[in-house]
Amino acid sequence: MPIDATLPYDDDNIFARILRGEIPAKRVYEDDHALAFHDIAPQAPVHVLVIPKGRYVSWDDFSATAGDAEIAGFVRAVATVAREQGLVEPGYRLLANVGSHGGQEVPHLHVHLFGGRALGRMVA
Ligand code: IMP
Repeated sequence: MPIDATLPYDDDNIFARILRGEIPAKRVYEDDHALAFHDIAPQAPVHVLVIPKGRYVSWDDFSATAGDAEIAGFVRAVATVAREQGLVEPGYRLLANVGSHGGQEVPHLHVHLFGGRALGRMVA
């Protein structure tokens, strides 16, 4: 069920629980700013979710309220995961769903990283 991205942060959302180690995830990367793990229902040969460690509901919330170091750290972490997954050549796709029209279901900012096959042109 898509969420209202303007709601306050819910500390019991599933990605918060993964961050706290309360539920398992297939982790592929972690640093001070970000955690990355495999999506439970992959839509491509590589489908990894990268989340910031801070309490941000969405891309909108993150870009408006996170500090510059946190934003830079998260952006670099996403790129590092793509590199470590061997996706830079021939390429990959990043996606962040925001709010109900964006189809966002989990209320903790996450960037989907897709790769491992030709993904085709994306039409909304
Ligand atoms: P959204 O629609 O952008 O919010 O995407 C949420 C994503 O989280 C979906 O692709 C789900 O398959 C994925 N997901 C939900 N629960 C889990 C989990 O426990 N582990 C890993 N991925 C999950």
